[in-house]
Amino acid sequence: MRLAVASVDRAVAGNLLFGLIVGLLVTVSAHAPAPQLYCPPLPSITTQSAMLKVKKADNACTIADGGYVKTNTSYRLHIAVEITGDCGTSKSECSGLPVVCSCVPSITYIRTLQQSYLRVNGTLRGSVAANPSNDPTIQNYDTETSTNTTSAGASWLTLSEGQFLYTSLTNALATPCNLEPTQFPHDQPVTMHAMACKPEWFTGGSPTVNFHGPPTGTVTIVVPSAAFEDARGPAQQAAADWAAALGRTVTVLPGYNTCAPTDPLCISFKNDQGTQPGDPVGCASFGTASYDPATGVWQGSTSVRFEPKWMGGHADNLRRTIAHEIGHYFGLFNRLDASCTYSNTLMGSTSRYAVQAPASGTALGPTASDEAALPNSTYGNQVRSTCGW
Ligand SMILES: [Zn+2]
Repeated sequence: MRLAVASVDRAVAGNLLFGLIVGLLVTVSAHAPAPQLYCPPLPSITTQSAMLKVKKADNACTIADGGYVKTNTSYRLHIAVEITGDCGTSKSECSGLPVVCSCVPSITYIRTLQQSYLRVNGTLRGSVAANPSNDPTIQNYDTETSTNTTSAGASWLTLSEGQFLYTSLTNALATPCNLEPTQFPHDQPVTMHAMACKPEWFTGGSPTVNFHGPPTGTVTIVVPSAAFEDARGPAQQAAADWAAALGRTVTVLPGYNTCAPTDPLCISFKNDQGTQPGDPVGCASFGTASYDPATGVWQGSTSVRFEPKWMGGHADNLRRTIAHEIGHYFGLFNRLDASCTYSNTLMGSTSRYAVQAPASGTALGPTASDEAALPNSTYGNQVRSTCGW
């Protein structure tokens, strides 16, 4: 080293001193802290999702939003929630050569749940306490497990007929830096229809569509000739029943008329049931038209087809039969499930024929089960899922 040289003159000593200072500076700068990266305070950032699910008690099926469930059957509610959050301060961490610094959160909080509240049609039915196992990422509050439930009302539901809207609200436990929000509704409220009779829809095509008449406009039923005069009065009753059920106009034209072949809002009577190859089994049927393959809407006029001997039949039997065939026009199919009876749906078969009066208690017009199946299926190919049958 230069410092080991025994004799030096002033100039050499000056150069040495300069070199030493530069060397020290270089040495010092190589070991100096990296430039501080300014790290701002973290905003309160949370990601959270909360799913409300309704399942049949034996886990056989999960109810789709807008779906149909069987009355007098037990269902349970699940809440699955995932919440995490970063908040507080962030810090600079540096590494590597060249040195790279970045800001990282100093605190990551896993949020846990305090309590969830469940409402049915807006009425509080119960609350679900925090899961004792405190799974940090996903908490499944299975209300089947009584330890997680503070109210029996939320866990097992035996439903009467009607429409139910399930909503819920969840509280998250407070964190030291107060992550927001602390209370939030679940992402997907669940609406479902409880029905006595399993719904069946008149479907076909590829992709599958629900065949049905246009969702708006006056539906007109025409009597083509004097041969069908016995059906006029019953048709007027059937039309009035469907009009009331759907809140739209369904009417029988006075006099004798025919449908324009291209009019999907027109239904006429025919007496050719059972005379054509491939006719469905039965004493009456619904004569279909072509349909829009994208929507299932009839593209031409349709018909109620009777076996000729129907004229002169019992007025109530005619009324029910016409209403049943109009049910096909609107998108319902025959219902053969054991849950369906003569009284809880119009769309089952009948035990009486033509001149006989319907059996006592037989529904002569659309029932609550028939009405409920239509708004969510016929008018837009919406939810057609069922659970509980
Ligand atoms: Zn039928």
